[in-house]
Amino acid sequence: MTLYDRIHDWLRHTYGKATTCEFCHQNDKKKYEYALKQGLEHDFKRENYLQLCTSCHRRYDWTDEKSKAISIRNSGPGNARWRKPGAFRGRHHTEEIKRKISESNKRTKNRNKLKSLI
Ligand SMILES: [Zn+2]
Repeated sequence: MTLYDRIHDWLRHTYGKATTCEFCHQNDKKKYEYALKQGLEHDFKRENYLQLCTSCHRRYDWTDEKSKAISIRNSGPGNARWRKPGAFRGRHHTEEIKRKISESNKRTKNRNKLKSLI
């Protein structure tokens, strides 16, 4: 058992299962999880964790690296379609999407350029 598993067990035993989402505040979803707050280390501290529904958890855990990978495959976070999983499933890339992908790639490049200046 990894430390991560042990801490999650400890959270569930001590505080009970996650039953709400501290991000979207919906409490009628099927499943909630404890998510490590960004910038913090896994630890036996309740305040290091947020209760999130699975979709917010996935979004929350998406680092820059991961969203970059997604923005290449998809049109990327921040796009309305991205917020509706499955809305585009099974469809081929249209010209509009291709254009959006190249736009978001450009944006990423600009951001990296900015980072290297700082
Ligand atoms: Zn949520």
